[in-house]
Amino acid sequence: MITSGSDDLMQRARRVIPGGVNSPVRAFRGVGGSPRFIASASGPYLRDVDGNEYVDLICSWGPMILGHAHPQVEAAVRDAAAKGFSFGTPSENEVALAEEIVARVEPLEQVRLVSSGTEATMSALRLARGYTGRSAVVKFAGCYHGHVDALLAAAGSGVATFALPDSAGVPDSAAHETIVLPYNDIDALRAAFEQHGDRIAAVITEASPGNMGVVPPLPGFTQALRDITTEYGALLISDEVMTGFRCSKAGWFGLEGVVPDLFTFGKVMGGGFPAAAFGGPAQIMERLAPDGPVYQAGTLSGNPVATAAGLATLRGCTDEVYARLEVVSHAIADGAANALSAAGVPHTIQWAGSMFSVFFRDEEVRNYDDARAQDTEAFGRFFHSMLEQGVHLPPSAFEVWFVGAAHDDAAVQKILDALPDAARAAA
Ligand code: PLP
Repeated sequence: MITSGSDDLMQRARRVIPGGVNSPVRAFRGVGGSPRFIASASGPYLRDVDGNEYVDLICSWGPMILGHAHPQVEAAVRDAAAKGFSFGTPSENEVALAEEIVARVEPLEQVRLVSSGTEATMSALRLARGYTGRSAVVKFAGCYHGHVDALLAAAGSGVATFALPDSAGVPDSAAHETIVLPYNDIDALRAAFEQHGDRIAAVITEASPGNMGVVPPLPGFTQALRDITTEYGALLISDEVMTGFRCSKAGWFGLEGVVPDLFTFGKVMGGGFPAAAFGGPAQIMERLAPDGPVYQAGTLSGNPVATAAGLATLRGCTDEVYARLEVVSHAIADGAANALSAAGVPHTIQWAGSMFSVFFRDEEVRNYDDARAQDTEAFGRFFHSMLEQGVHLPPSAFEVWFVGAAHDDAAVQKILDALPDAARAAA
């Protein structure tokens, strides 16, 4: 496969962009080699600057649930852009998108729109602190909530890929109020609350973690989060940036039904544009400015083009789309399991609705320590074989294999055809 165009661009990029990329996991450090520069994408395919075509299993790390350049989303974006790009005053699309989100996720009464998942979790955390008058926060090792200072400790996603315990540049004062606990461990949670309960403003958790690979809550774990936070007067923040509108119409909440105090959303709700949100009952949300004392704002929040893309995407997420995600993800996961078994490669596939990931170890993964015990080098060989055969997986062993409803039978078949060789390469 010729990649000289991508390689040249990476050389140029390295001169003017740190590491050549604008988000670290894109740099291929978890798997070695150099990234492909994408020139265009449509449906389930990415095309790089050298003309190579890949079936896409990154889907922009989640947002492209309907596939790339979906005609209805493209039309909505063109229509919105023709009317102006950003007003800095309210516009109807913001209201319509907020209404669509509130209608899908039953406990929500109000949402505030922002531009990234990081902003959503950062703002939800500030609101929880403002609402409770407390400052400590509990997060779980391996959960990633964006690059918020207080939430980078033992974070998943790129922080896991680079095996960082946390990030330089986060002052002790910011991390000092963060209590990091092992995921799926109710005893550890109870012990932390027994010791610090009167200081804890909130527990933030990925609704069903996907940033250390897919590690769903064990039965009773989310309910225990709800019960213990209620007992101690802390808020429960369910981060649905990844799972929201993907695991079901109402995200992970639609599958498990435990009601948190605050939700955060991103990815799918922006349809590939910068839109995200946090929300909850009016009683809490009204503590935000302009009516309340908790300040939060954004020049581009509720941007008319981004909200048009998000609205068209959510409206396109029909029952048929969710049914198709089930079919596609199971076909791919079954193919991967068969190929890896035939090649004798230890593996475990874990699910959150139709969202799945493949761990290169053969025991169940219940927390971050388990996830890190997988064979990341075997994944690297597997990844590169798939890439050479025209299938672009996320370049990290700690990520979801994202599918979209545009993955048609031909795209799925191309993946299935590539798997046996990749599994042999991993062995
Ligand atoms: N929360 C979760 C669960 C995520 O997966 C991510 C991003 O991957 C974020 C928050 C941060 O979102 P963003 O990258 O849009 O800032």
